[in-house]
Amino acid sequence: MSFHVRRKDREITDPEEMRRVLKATKYVTVALCMENEPYLVSLSHGYDEAKNCIYFHCAPEGKKLAYQKANGKVWGQAVLDFGVTEECDYAYTSVHFSGTMHIIEDLSEKQHGIEMLVRKVSQNPEAKLAKIKPEKLSKTTMGRIDISYMTGKKHQAPRQ
Ligand SMILES: Cc1cc2nc3c(=O)[nH]c(=O)nc-3n(C[C@H](O)[C@H](O)[C@H](O)COP(=O)(O)OP(=O)(O)OC[C@H]3O[C@@H](n4cnc5c(N)ncnc54)[C@H](O)[C@@H]3O)c2cc1C
Repeated sequence: MSFHVRRKDREITDPEEMRRVLKATKYVTVALCMENEPYLVSLSHGYDEAKNCIYFHCAPEGKKLAYQKANGKVWGQAVLDFGVTEECDYAYTSVHFSGTMHIIEDLSEKQHGIEMLVRKVSQNPEAKLAKIKPEKLSKTTMGRIDISYMTGKKHQAPRQ
């Protein structure tokens, strides 16, 4: 079955605009499914525009990793929330994406991912990155979501 954004007046079709949302949003929310049971998590992330993927880090075990191992397919959402307008509408820009979640083993990719993540979430990224030594990074669990499909929608979002 195929679905599309029904409100064409609110649809974002420009991939660049969707990428801007993935870069600017504070976190993404990702839905997973195992044995017909849904689960979701919010994740602080770094968005790699060139590879169209999301990097995150997490604890080495837990429910989302069990879900990922059973089924890497995810559906996610990134939101820029502009709040209630003067007209009492709710203003937002959001992107939905589907993709596959992988756990990264390769140290050089972990290094790249952590740089993306820390540069996104930290106000003083270089000082923080300098403290992350390879030994520490090798023990850190990091994941990547390869995005294969995106849709965008906005409602009374400020002009870009
Ligand atoms: C803004 C934001 C950013 C976050 N960034 C990250 C990140 O970068 N990396 C990361 O790993 N996590 C992040 N989290 C936490 C994340 O959303 C999950 O809570 C966490 O990843 C759960 O790990 P798990 O699946 O291993 O849960 P487990 O520890 O295995 O817990 C399983 C059970 O605990 C309960 N549970 C788990 N998480 C929550 C929750 N947040 N609220 C209420 N109940 C819960 C559920 O009932 C679930 O069935 C973030 C949360 C927020 C709100």
